[in-house]
Amino acid sequence: MNYRKTRAEINAAALRSNTRWLRRHIGPGSLLAVVKADAYGHGVGPVCRAIADGVDGFAVGFTDEAVALKESYPECRHQVLILEGCQSEAELQLCVAQNFTTVVHSMAQLEQLEAVSLTKALDVWLKVDSGMHRLGIPPEAVEQCMKRLKSCNHVGQITLMSHLANADNLAALNQVQLQQFQTLKNQYPNHSYSLHNSAALLNPQLQGVLTASDWVRAGLLLYGVNPSEIEDVQHELTPVMTLKAPVIAINEVKKGDSVGYGSNWVAPSDTRVATVAIGYADGYPRQCKNGTPTFVRGQLAPLIGRVSMDMVTVDVSHISNVVLGDDVELWGENVDVRCVARHADTISWHLLTGTSVRVPRVVVE
Ligand SMILES: *Cc1c(COP(=O)(O)O)cnc(C)c1O
Repeated sequence: MNYRKTRAEINAAALRSNTRWLRRHIGPGSLLAVVKADAYGHGVGPVCRAIADGVDGFAVGFTDEAVALKESYPECRHQVLILEGCQSEAELQLCVAQNFTTVVHSMAQLEQLEAVSLTKALDVWLKVDSGMHRLGIPPEAVEQCMKRLKSCNHVGQITLMSHLANADNLAALNQVQLQQFQTLKNQYPNHSYSLHNSAALLNPQLQGVLTASDWVRAGLLLYGVNPSEIEDVQHELTPVMTLKAPVIAINEVKKGDSVGYGSNWVAPSDTRVATVAIGYADGYPRQCKNGTPTFVRGQLAPLIGRVSMDMVTVDVSHISNVVLGDDVELWGENVDVRCVARHADTISWHLLTGTSVRVPRVVVE
C-alpha cells in the first residue's frame, strides 16, 4: 500500500500490441525481447509474463539480472541470454543449472569456458566486433574461436552475433558492419545469427537481410518508443510506461515572483503554479528545462522552475479546473518520452531505465 499517488503505470495490452508490431516487422526471424535493466524500468517479471507468448527469448545484461528474471518469473520457459556473458566459473555453472545462454565476447571468456567442466551442454552466442569496438572478438579470430568452441564438448549451439554502433542513423559504418556480418553468415551457413536491435529494423541500410536464422534483439520498440532518427513509427506503437504524479499544491504567483531553487524562473505575468509530487529522486531528470511538457486535465502544461528532489512545478494558468490530487502525466500516453528526453539533453532509454525504485510500478490491463 502506498499513500503517495506517484506511480508508473505499465500497460500490458500495449506491450502485447508492440510485440505484434515487432513480429510483423521481423519477417521470418526470431524475436529476442531485451529486458535488461528491469525491463527498461518497467519491471522484468510482469513484462516477461505479458509478452511470453509473443516472443522467442529474453535477453538481460548480466547474470544477476537473469537470476532476478527467474525469481520474479519462475515459470519462464524461454531462453534467457546474458548479453555481457559470464565473468566467472560460478556463473557458467549457474547458466547450465538454470538453462541460461551466454555471450562469449572475448578470448578471456573463451579460455574460461574451455577450462570449466560442465555437466550439460551450454548454448553460446559468439560476439564478433564488426566495427563498434566495445565488445567482441575481431573478425580475424572467428575461425579460430569457432574451431575451439566446436571442440569443447560442453558447448551446444553457437549463434553468431554483433552489435551496430549507428543503427538509428544513416552512417557509412552501418554498411561496413552489415557487410562484415554477411561475410560471417556466408562462412558459417548453418548457424543462427543476430545483428539487429530496435533501430536497425527501421534503417533502410539494414533492411531486407533477415532470414529464418536471424534473431532480432528488440528493446525500446517493445516498450512502445520509436528509437530511430530516420523513420518515425511512433503512431504505430503504444507507449507502455505512463509516469504520473499528483498535484499537491496550487499557488497564485504575481508577475515578477520567482519559483523554485535558484529562482531560475520568474513569472512574466500573474501565474497559477501547480506543485507536483515527483522529482529527480524518482528519476524525473533534473536537467529538464523550463517548458518541458507535462499533461493535466487533458491539456499540456509547461514545467517551470528547477526540478527538486521530490517535486516539480508546472504552469497551469490556462487550465482553470485543476484541483489538488489531479494526476499530472510526466511522460507516456500523452507526453512523448522522446520530447522530455530532448528537453533534458538525453535519450528515451535513459529516462525509462532511470525511473527510480521509489516509484511503484502498477500494471494496468
Ligand atoms: C540493449 C541492447 C539491445 C536492445 O537495444 P534497443 O535499442 O533498445 O533495441 C540489443 N542488443 C544489445 C547487445 C544490447 O545491449
